[in-house]
Amino acid sequence: MDPILRISDLHVSFHVRGGEVQAVRGFDLEMNRGESVAIVGESGSGKSVTAQSILRLIPSPPGIVKKGSIEFMGQELLTKTEKEMEAIRGKEIGMIFQDPMTSLNPTLTVGRQISEVLIKHQKLSSAQASRRAAELLTLVGIPNAEARVHEYPHQFSGGMRQRVMIAISLACDPALLIADEPTTALDVTIQAQIMQLMKDLQKKTGTSIILITHDLGIVADMCDRVVVMYAGKVVETGTKHEIFRNPQHPYTKGLLRSLPRLDQKKDEPLIPIIGTPPDMSQPPQGCAFCARCDYAMRICVDKDAPTYTISDTQTAKCWLHDSARKGVTA
Ligand code: SF4
Ligand code: MG
Repeated sequence: MDPILRISDLHVSFHVRGGEVQAVRGFDLEMNRGESVAIVGESGSGKSVTAQSILRLIPSPPGIVKKGSIEFMGQELLTKTEKEMEAIRGKEIGMIFQDPMTSLNPTLTVGRQISEVLIKHQKLSSAQASRRAAELLTLVGIPNAEARVHEYPHQFSGGMRQRVMIAISLACDPALLIADEPTTALDVTIQAQIMQLMKDLQKKTGTSIILITHDLGIVADMCDRVVVMYAGKVVETGTKHEIFRNPQHPYTKGLLRSLPRLDQKKDEPLIPIIGTPPDMSQPPQGCAFCARCDYAMRICVDKDAPTYTISDTQTAKCWLHDSARKGVTA
């Protein structure tokens, strides 16, 4: 099967006063049609920068894609002109961001905002577009859609605004949808409803989804596969089951220990990962997780680990998987 997206060896930096922040330092991902992949990591791990690179939304300067390739449906995105990208963004690749209030235009009705996308990309007449806008609001679970298309963003609750954003992103039936922390600004119950909605819509439309999140807890239901990022690199990949049941990188294990579980005993504490990620303007030469890792060995300080294959679907970038070192925890 042809992959819908293939990212190879992506490196993205930001030039700041006195130096260069190496936000993404070698990111690879191959995604099939209809697949949903979560990219998980702490803030500053490079996951949003990776998403913005796919959409070619890295502000430049100060940002620069230094190296790599991003192929979407067989076409290299990194060499496209801005005009070509405009035709792809919102049409073939939809996007949903964290804060719907900053992405929606407060001065236009939500119906108008959805219609504009349809008129621009689908070449619908304005009457067809406003009918379709109401259908899309219904699809994302907004009751009374025919009346609500005439309302402005501030007349919607936070959760309902995020539903509007999802309607806009789905307006052109994109092949790929990128959702960057889509529920972070919402309370927990609404978060769960939005994730459920995205899952249902994915089933219905077959859209491939990249879900970017710092919260491993919300990917459990939604995604087929998980990519864990740390300090600009992929440290582990696996199916949802592999990542939750059989994590192989100390950072992934740490993320799981810090999550509340259903079978959690009442007094059992959640264990946060102690310490902070490294300064990305001076990334360490060895494993970037070294300073926070309970298993760190001498080689971890000196040399970054290669990516080891754990199964057909799982990889981990950690020296503990070097067969010569297995079991060594010096
Ligand atoms: Fe820990 Fe070493 Fe593995 Fe890095 S390579 S995660 S420091 S054991
Ligand atoms: Mg982010």
